[in-house]
Amino acid sequence: MIDLHLHTSRCCHASGTMEEYVEEARRKGLKIIGFADHFPLGLLGYEPRVQVTMEPRELVRYIEEVRRLNGENGDLTIRIGIEVDYIPGLEDKTRDLLSFYPFDYVIGSLHFMEGWDFTHPKYAEDYRNKNLGELYEQFFDLTAQLCRSKLFDIIGHIDVIKKFGFRPESDLEPFWRRIAKLLKENNLCTEINTAGKDAPVGEFYPDRRFLEICREEEVPVTIGSDAHAPEQVGRYLPEAIEALKKAGYGEVALFELRERSFIPL
Ligand code: ZN
Ligand code: FE
Ligand code: FE
Ligand code: ZN
Repeated sequence: MIDLHLHTSRCCHASGTMEEYVEEARRKGLKIIGFADHFPLGLLGYEPRVQVTMEPRELVRYIEEVRRLNGENGDLTIRIGIEVDYIPGLEDKTRDLLSFYPFDYVIGSLHFMEGWDFTHPKYAEDYRNKNLGELYEQFFDLTAQLCRSKLFDIIGHIDVIKKFGFRPESDLEPFWRRIAKLLKENNLCTEINTAGKDAPVGEFYPDRRFLEICREEEVPVTIGSDAHAPEQVGRYLPEAIEALKKAGYGEVALFELRERSFIPL
C-alpha cells in the first residue's frame, strides 16, 4: 500500500531521520511512499508567528535527500512531494516557485486563516471565541478558492477545521457537496488523512459522509498518514483502506512528475 504524506525534521515540528521513516514504511509493508514536507513559507514572503515550515535553503537539500533515499532503497518507490500552504493573493508567486522544482506531486493545505494558525495546538483555545457556523463557512470559502487556484494535485486534510473537536450544530453536507464538485471540476484529488484519528477530534479527514460524497462526485483519493514521527508512517492504514472501500472506492491515486495514475485498493 501507499502513504504519500510524510514530514521530516526540517519543518521544525517533526522528529526522526528520513531513514527511520523509510525503515518504518518497510516494516509496515508499504511499497510506495512520498515525503511531503512543508514548503518554506519564507520563499513566499509569508511569516507566521511560529515557524512551521522548512527554511528556504533546505528545499534543495530536501529534494536531493528524497532522491538519494529512493536510489538506495530498491524495494521501495519514494516520491518527492511537498505540502504547500494556500495563501490567497500569493497564487502567482506560488505557481512560479513550484515550477522550479521537480516535484512528483503538490499537496495544497490550509493551516492559516487571516494569520491564525488554526491547526496549531498552541492556538486551539481561540476556537472558543468564534461563531463556529461563520468560521466553517469562512473555512469552506477558502477551501473553494484553493480548489479554483489550480496550483495543486491533492488537497490536504480537507476538513481539518474540525481538528480540535469544535463543530457547529448546522448540517455540513451542503458545504461538502459544493467542495466535492469543485474538486472534480478542477481535477483535484483528495486524501484520506489518518492523522485526524490522533487529534482531539479522533477521526480521519475527511468525515465518513464527506468521503462518500467525494466518491459520489467521482473525486479521486489518495492516502496519507501526515506522519511527523517515524512510528506514524502508515498509521491506521488497514482502517483507512476499509473506510475507502465502504465509501465505494476501488483504487487510489499516485503521482509521478505531477502525472496521476491509479493502483487498485
Ligand atoms: Zn506539520
Ligand atoms: Fe497540513
Ligand atoms: Fe502534513
Ligand atoms: Zn498536513
